[in-house]
Amino acid sequence: MEIKSYINGRWIRPSSQRMVRNINPSDLTDLVTEFPSAGEKEAREAIEVARATFMSWREVPAPERGRYVLRVMELAKARKDEIARTMTREEGKLLRESAGEVQKGINILEYYGGSGFRLNGQTIPSEIAECFTCTVRRPLGVVGIITPWNFPWAIPCWKIAPALVAGNTVVFKPAELTPWTASILVELFEEAGLPPGVLNMVVGPGSAVGEAIIQHPQIHAVSFTGSNEVGRRVIVEAARTHKKVTCEMGGKNALILMEDGDIASSVDATADGAFGSTGQRCTATSRVLVHASRAAEFMERLLAKAKTYVPGNGMDPNATMGPCVDKKQFETVLSYIEAGKKEGARCILGGMRAPGNGYFVNPTIFDKVRPEMIIFQEEIFGPVLCVTEFNTFEEAVALANNVRYGFTGSIFTRDMGTIMRFIEHAEIRMVHINEPTIGGEAQLPFGGCKSTGYGDREMAEEGLNFFTQTKTIFINYSGKGERAIIR
Ligand code: NAD
Repeated sequence: MEIKSYINGRWIRPSSQRMVRNINPSDLTDLVTEFPSAGEKEAREAIEVARATFMSWREVPAPERGRYVLRVMELAKARKDEIARTMTREEGKLLRESAGEVQKGINILEYYGGSGFRLNGQTIPSEIAECFTCTVRRPLGVVGIITPWNFPWAIPCWKIAPALVAGNTVVFKPAELTPWTASILVELFEEAGLPPGVLNMVVGPGSAVGEAIIQHPQIHAVSFTGSNEVGRRVIVEAARTHKKVTCEMGGKNALILMEDGDIASSVDATADGAFGSTGQRCTATSRVLVHASRAAEFMERLLAKAKTYVPGNGMDPNATMGPCVDKKQFETVLSYIEAGKKEGARCILGGMRAPGNGYFVNPTIFDKVRPEMIIFQEEIFGPVLCVTEFNTFEEAVALANNVRYGFTGSIFTRDMGTIMRFIEHAEIRMVHINEPTIGGEAQLPFGGCKSTGYGDREMAEEGLNFFTQTKTIFINYSGKGERAIIR
């Protein structure tokens, strides 16, 4: 499959000599995509086209803009299986995980497709007689959208749909590891009849295409999801060039099992959060904090459950966990496992690569993990779980908060007071009670705090807010030229 960039309604083969070869992470003999990567030149072209198209796109009534998104939703439904299969081949996740992600994107398209009818401002009373005051929401201009490989369909859906409905034009830079899934989404917008130049996609490296987007003065806002390191760079560049910016970055999420929590469901939630999608979710459970009085029983059951996660090709119905996405990620995960062993954490399951001609790592559990250890502190982004015991609720929350990230977390307890105190004191913005740390829905705001999230949150109404600016209007019908002094 040859990947092209999409600029001004045309699929373009960049002239660059730099070839990208993407291999199926479950089968290293399967070359999935091969293409010359685009660079700064194509990014600049796309930005120029998006700028030129903005004036006409913003004139399209908002409900009509939303209908393009609804058409994409219908087209995506018809190709659901094909999109899921492409994603599994390209990224590696299990076919049912890919199908779930495609459905999530469809729900997001459905949600935002209707939001053109609700791009509301407010009427607000004025201090001044015979003056009508209100606000309207208007688009920002050209928006740069930069996305990672781990949710190659849902994340572009939750950024592109609200950006377009709000009336912006878009330059979209997907991750180079998952360009095929991204291309299908763009293809669907083309098939839906979106005018040329409104949505443009440039497939190339962050160092060229991403940098061109974050530095260009004609980009008015950047919506970024990815690692903390790159996100920090995006924030600095956006500040330098006065862009509105939202960045959703890494996580180091904890699940807490209290003395009174349900063991069976907490074990299932921990394993699902830690090993589902090979731990390559920003919301993955990478730490479990267990009340010391329940640790022995919890660990026995967790070990049994974790052993049911068998790495394999995502297309194989018997596989219960996919591979790491590529060689680099595979080596990163193995190096964190080595760091954990060196630091003296006890590896009680896995801790090594799994058989097969892919980037497979066995589900891995470290016991006796202390907060100062690297594996407690850093996002590993693989099937590696750290277990730490505690004695009091205060200790558990302090442990959960003792990382630079602040994304998601969960507590298993039946006590209402404990639940409320967790909601208040956990330094996170996605709070789960008696369920896994993972999950998000189109109509619920999504995002983190501390080093995880910067700027507005995503999805739901808050996600749409990011892509608009409010204008404050004064309509004075007093017939007096001067504005009255407020008394
Ligand atoms: P990454 O930061 O390496 O890349 C993300 C995107 O940024 C890619 O498209 C990449 O090409 C681009 N990029 C790289 N350098 C750039 C630069 N200098 N300027 C502009 N763009 C540049 O992240 P990744 O490895 O693709 O994704 C994994 C990370 O994403 C993890 O840390 C994960 O936690 C995070 N993530 C966060 C959320 C969330 O909502 N908080 C969701 C999914 C993933």
